Amino acid sequence: MRTAEEEIVSSCPQCGGQIRTDRRFTTWCAACDWNVDPQGPGERKRGLASVRHRIAQHYGELLFTELRAGNSGGRTVSRLLAYAIALTVHGLTCVLAAVGVWGLVAGWGGLGMAFGLFFLALAWSLRPRLNRLSDDDRVLLRPQAPELYALIDEIAAAQGTRSVDAVVVDVEANASVTQLGLRRRLLTLGLPLWEVLSPQQRIALLGHELGHFTHGDTRYGMVVGTAFRTLDTWLHYLQPIPNPNVIHAITNLACVPLRLLVTGVVALLDLLTAPSAQRGEYLADAASARTGSTEGAAGVMDRLLVADSIVTTLHREINGRRMRGRGGTAGQDSEGLWEALAAHMDSIPESEYERQRRAGALRGHSVDASHPPTHLRRRLLLEGPPVPASVTADPGRSERIAGELADVRRTLAREVVRDGYDHR
Ligand SMILES: [Zn+2]
Ligand SMILES: [Zn+2]
Repeated sequence: MRTAEEEIVSSCPQCGGQIRTDRRFTTWCAACDWNVDPQGPGERKRGLASVRHRIAQHYGELLFTELRAGNSGGRTVSRLLAYAIALTVHGLTCVLAAVGVWGLVAGWGGLGMAFGLFFLALAWSLRPRLNRLSDDDRVLLRPQAPELYALIDEIAAAQGTRSVDAVVVDVEANASVTQLGLRRRLLTLGLPLWEVLSPQQRIALLGHELGHFTHGDTRYGMVVGTAFRTLDTWLHYLQPIPNPNVIHAITNLACVPLRLLVTGVVALLDLLTAPSAQRGEYLADAASARTGSTEGAAGVMDRLLVADSIVTTLHREINGRRMRGRGGTAGQDSEGLWEALAAHMDSIPESEYERQRRAGALRGHSVDASHPPTHLRRRLLLEGPPVPASVTADPGRSERIAGELADVRRTLAREVVRDGYDHR
């Protein structure tokens, strides 16, 4: 809660208007934007990253105008091209495997066998890798969290799609959905985001994530996603050898054209998938509003906009607890971690959210290169007529879900306090 002593009143050095701010946050002027972004745009992205960022911003603006005009037709040509490239990448792996088998058969008993085995091993390492759960994942299965699954099922049903088969809880300030293996669906919930949302905003968040399934985004599609991974493996093999001797130097030189080619293919695939990935985000936002109301969806967006301060706050909380817990009482010191994070985020005044929104618009904030600028996502939501929620939070249910998450909350809090929080 904001207390009177935290509020300071001053006048704007630029326009002379009155400024009221919370002393814990940046002093800025809502009338003329004075000091709205004191840190400036931060470190400039370079090379490929900067190109990706600019392209993402460009598509984001283009799609914003298009979708606002009520046009939501797909950009099928780029999608088909992306599929074609992805299939070519996997096709090449098949060719390598075929060469391997041929070498093995033709050179049976001789040197050709080694040649064949080499190509088979190479093809195996480049095979399409489907998503799997890892041993470190904190997985909540249906029997462990019936109420959470019931909520997810209800949201999926409202959108006319199948529900998820597994939920993983982690410590990112984010949430996502992916395929799991060939058929199954996985939802990943980041506790730092989940904990700072209201029950209705959580429904909006789940609505956004499940919306990705309804619209079949290619990024999430297995064909393109696995091709990205295979290309990554190629890049790994083609990396120059450090501290080269003469032979290494020659090898390094020989790899340059191939490395450039693979980098080019990755960039092209990125370019081709960006429009449909961004469209997918805008459409998922619309699904989010239909499920959890426009207000709920915009509330999630506000939290995403200050995701950096979620991470900073968590860092501060964890470091404080680690300092206090030197005597080996990490177990107790992790208590109340998520509550402290939520309380801090709740205490951020509206004026600071507004400043972050304006600074975000100036900087071109987006979750990542595949997401449209956050301020445009928010505007698209709020410029249309407000939509009521189709799924609403009831207090009993929220409490039961909290109960189902209690174990994993405790475990993850203990882990980050013990090991530190080095995410981003
Ligand atoms: Zn001013
Ligand atoms: Zn999304």
